[in-house]
Amino acid sequence: MSTNIDTPETVEADSTEVSCDGGGDLGHPRVYLNMGDKGEVDCPYCDRKFVLTTEHAS
Ligand SMILES: [Zn+2]
Repeated sequence: MSTNIDTPETVEADSTEVSCDGGGDLGHPRVYLNMGDKGEVDCPYCDRKFVLTTEHAS
C-alpha cells in the first residue's frame, strides 16, 4: 500500500459550489469553494481538485 500524499485527489461534484473538510486523517476546517466558469477548483488546504460533472442525462 502506497501513500502518495503529494498526489492531489480528484473529487467529482455535481454542483459548482462544493465544501471540503479534507476528510480522513488530513482534515482541515471546512471551506466552501466555487468553481466559477472553469468547472473546477483546487482546495487551498489539501490540494484536492474538485471537478464539475455534467453527466446528468437530459
Ligand atoms: Zn480540502
